[in-house]
Amino acid sequence: MSIGVSQQSLPGLAARPTTRPTRRMPTTNGLSDLTVIVGPMKSGKSLELISLLSPLAYSDVTHRVYQSARHQRDDKVTSRSGSSLVTTKTMSLEPLLDDDVDVVGVDEIHMFDVADVEVLGTLIERGTRVVATGIDLDHRGELFAPVRALFELGPQVVTHRRAVCDVCREFRAVYTQVLDRDRAFTTRLAPSTPLPDDGTFSYEARCRSCFVFPTD
Ligand SMILES: [Zn+2]
Repeated sequence: MSIGVSQQSLPGLAARPTTRPTRRMPTTNGLSDLTVIVGPMKSGKSLELISLLSPLAYSDVTHRVYQSARHQRDDKVTSRSGSSLVTTKTMSLEPLLDDDVDVVGVDEIHMFDVADVEVLGTLIERGTRVVATGIDLDHRGELFAPVRALFELGPQVVTHRRAVCDVCREFRAVYTQVLDRDRAFTTRLAPSTPLPDDGTFSYEARCRSCFVFPTD
């Protein structure tokens, strides 16, 4: 027995067109003009970037994800859960001005320069949707300059993620502690100094109570 109602029996329902429009406006998965995802290491920023951008692979939306060439670890945005996004490595975002894509993702934005964030500002004015992720606080516990520049662009959506503190295990880590041979690195370098992830140092997520501020 069928309990369906045939379309023909419903008054006012026009027959569906049999052909689709040749070109739909691309929808960008609800992305705002500028989405910023920040937090310490191990806070799930990459997973959030992947969940926002990976569905675009099945759409007409042109998109590209960039990582700093200073990022040594791998050539993908990889979350600790194992999912990933293919990325383009670059030292500068300036070449993006010659490109025309609907959505640009930038991973590890704190490894870029303020001038690169200005490039993102220009792209946003052109209508490009930008999603940028990175660590917000440097080894001094202060905002990285490119992250501050991002906030100055007035992002429509900001997600600040926390991590589990590697010392006390409370889910309230906002800092990234730099470790030199397993001891807190306490040398006070210039603000916003990007530190390498080539194995010179190791890093921990830490809460306000457990973070050791540099003093030297
Ligand atoms: Zn702690």
